[in-house]
Amino acid sequence: MRFAIFGDIHANLHALQTVLADAESEKCTHFVCMGDLVGYNAFPRECLDLIRGFDCPVVKGNHDEQASMFGFQEGFNALAEEAMNWTRDQLSEKDKDWLRALRLQRQVRDFTIVHATLDTPHKWGYVFNQLDAAASFSYQHTALCFIGHTHSPKAYIRDGSVRTIAFDEIDLQPGKKYLINVGSVGQPRDGDWRSAYCIYDTVTNKVTLRRLEYDIASAQRAILEAGLPPKLAERLAVGR
Ligand code: ZN
Repeated sequence: MRFAIFGDIHANLHALQTVLADAESEKCTHFVCMGDLVGYNAFPRECLDLIRGFDCPVVKGNHDEQASMFGFQEGFNALAEEAMNWTRDQLSEKDKDWLRALRLQRQVRDFTIVHATLDTPHKWGYVFNQLDAAASFSYQHTALCFIGHTHSPKAYIRDGSVRTIAFDEIDLQPGKKYLINVGSVGQPRDGDWRSAYCIYDTVTNKVTLRRLEYDIASAQRAILEAGLPPKLAERLAVGR
């Protein structure tokens, strides 16, 4: 099996289409979605429809939660909140029901998926460093777990201590645990504007990070045409 594992799409249809085309040319056989389908960018409905069409495992992100809530909740910055209000208006009640029903974490085959952290998935904490990773590891019962949420690809290993490991291609070793952030399809924040996702090959036991250029100009134009904050278009180009 070859899993394409991707998340933090954030309604960036151009980026999502590029990732899906790459996954197909890389002969991926299964899709897994790490949540945050909506928010920030201009195509929430289209992205939702695409992902729903795959009938693949999906976990809930904080933007999925916010978009499907009945009332306003605190915790979003002004920019995210403005985009969220716009997003809520775009989605049907059926879309919101679907988002609301998503689970926070799931096991897929021999690995776990969660949007934020395994220690407190509903609190939307961030795994930024070894300490955060250690807290999540203590609730990780599979050798391999994928996360998202920070929009920065990063990999941690636990083999006695918890360390960050280089992340282009990881050879999974037996007896060790791995916590892997797959980065963001639709709004990368590690200073690299290209879309990120991972391929997990269960035969070779490898996890590979993919980075892809996509039609960013069209994504930016759509943000402006939708009347969303111009800052959301600008940040795509700098990967922040
Ligand atoms: Zn996100």
